[in-house]
Amino acid sequence: MMKKNKRFGFYLMAIIIAFALNACAQNNKTAEIANITVPKNNKLPMEKTDEDWKKQLSEEQYYVLRKKGTEAPFTGKLLMNKEKGVYKCAACGNELFTDNMKFDSHCGWPSFDKEIAGGKIKTIEDNSHGMKRTEILCAKCGGHLGHLFDDGPTDTGLRYCVNSLSLDFVSEADVKKEQQQQQQQQNDAGISHIQTITLGGGCYWCVEAVYEMLDGVVSVSSGFSGGDENKITYEEVSEGNTGHAEVVQLVYDNTKTSLEEILKVFFTVHDPTTLNRQGADVGTQYRSVIFYNDNTQYETARNIIDAINKEEVYGKPIVTQLLPFKKFFKAEDYHQNYYQQNKNQPYCRMVIQPKIEKFEKVFKDRLKKK
Ligand SMILES: [Zn+2]
Repeated sequence: MMKKNKRFGFYLMAIIIAFALNACAQNNKTAEIANITVPKNNKLPMEKTDEDWKKQLSEEQYYVLRKKGTEAPFTGKLLMNKEKGVYKCAACGNELFTDNMKFDSHCGWPSFDKEIAGGKIKTIEDNSHGMKRTEILCAKCGGHLGHLFDDGPTDTGLRYCVNSLSLDFVSEADVKKEQQQQQQQQNDAGISHIQTITLGGGCYWCVEAVYEMLDGVVSVSSGFSGGDENKITYEEVSEGNTGHAEVVQLVYDNTKTSLEEILKVFFTVHDPTTLNRQGADVGTQYRSVIFYNDNTQYETARNIIDAINKEEVYGKPIVTQLLPFKKFFKAEDYHQNYYQQNKNQPYCRMVIQPKIEKFEKVFKDRLKKK
């Protein structure tokens, strides 16, 4: 139990830092990470030539989306739609609104009181027609959606006034069907659903405890990676000069979760902006690091980091390392499932439990069914 004794040395410091971190947490926007739009490759936001848009869109859609036109009031097909589902950009499929954000504004156009979080909509000042208005655009393809007003009747005070022609509606049932089709295509292509990823987010007790609860995670092991292959006991790594990071290795089912979701959890529950440190745990063994297995994992990680930086979620740049995976060394048995075995210890209660509570709150729909 050397680890515990060592950590008790930081006990008072941990209290002070925990308070400081809590204060910071109220200022940053980490809860938004769950909904952030992550571009799939560097070509996005989507750009097409005018010719291509003309080919893809109907004449009316082209007039509204590309030429900033407005459909006649009370004519849109989605004006009275009350079905459950998602409203996407009709040009690029970017998910913009859900049914519970829609309200009847009697203005003649579909109206919403908020947007799906994550910077999916861009606003610009519109001074046309002798008025000063806020225009809203799809952040992915630049398509014109409508205007944003601050006279909404709900508690957001906002009214997104959107052309039906700029939107595609996908019912809840169809969203599920789309997901099943994608899964079937993967099955047919013989792509394995079971994958691994190795992540360092400070003390592995914390990270392991969180991932044990995420639906789709098959197993989590605590251990070390990235350093001297001859020095792999906990005590050696604790000295801070083996080059190893405390990591968890996750085995996950790609049909139930995804690397994108796993990394969203990762960036929600640890602070990726503090170099070689998580709270009171200081040293390279506590660095934020992703050990990727292939190019796809690298791209996914790179894109999510870029997206979080762009949204300025932390207000500071992310310092997480991206390194090719080499070898994983499993830590001693008493480090596995540490939180579950030691819930009442001060470190668990003060440092791990708040992270778990945050995870449970932000990802409440994604917990394993008990
Ligand atoms: Zn779009």
